[in-house]
Amino acid sequence: MADLRTRRPAAFLDRDGTMILERDFLGDPDGIELLPGVVEAIQLLNEWGYWVIGVSNQSGVARGYFGTKDVEAVNERIIDLLAKQKAYVNRIYYCPHQPDISRQRNEAPCECRKPAPGMIQHALREYPIDLSGSFVAGDSAVDIGLAHRAGIPGLLVLTGYGLRERELLAPGLTPDVIADDLLSAVHWFGHRMGLIVGT
Ligand SMILES: [Mg+2]
Ligand SMILES: [Zn+2]
Repeated sequence: MADLRTRRPAAFLDRDGTMILERDFLGDPDGIELLPGVVEAIQLLNEWGYWVIGVSNQSGVARGYFGTKDVEAVNERIIDLLAKQKAYVNRIYYCPHQPDISRQRNEAPCECRKPAPGMIQHALREYPIDLSGSFVAGDSAVDIGLAHRAGIPGLLVLTGYGLRERELLAPGLTPDVIADDLLSAVHWFGHRMGLIVGT
């Protein structure tokens, strides 16, 4: 992998429905199923010297379905499974909150639940990321909203909830591309950036 101190762009990747099969509130690492093409997509990002950073809303914590330790166990397993196939993810950030539950508890709304940009801001403090050249890819409108809030391209993938979410995109919330899956989204981005030449 490239030097950990060099400033370079990041791929901010949604987790559920983008990297792994959407299972609605996954708290058990044994439920992880990597989606087709994800290993190859991340290997390409690794070749390009991108930071690969997961950004995941996990309101199952606020809802009491599972704990932060469970989310972290799932995230670690995903990173391990990918690393075994030589696809390297630097970190997976997650938001454990849920807005209605925060309100009931008289807590201020969090700044990390997508589309709020808190997880990207957190990553910017911890890694030398060059936002120009960075992008977000995910299967939900909130992933595109996150990209817009961060001022970087947003790539909608049609895995997970993508087909449904495509119909729900608010006016103005237009993805830079709608791709069948993460690998085709990354291919599209590589061509656009001149990182892939030819076909
Ligand atoms: Mg998702
Ligand atoms: Zn949050």
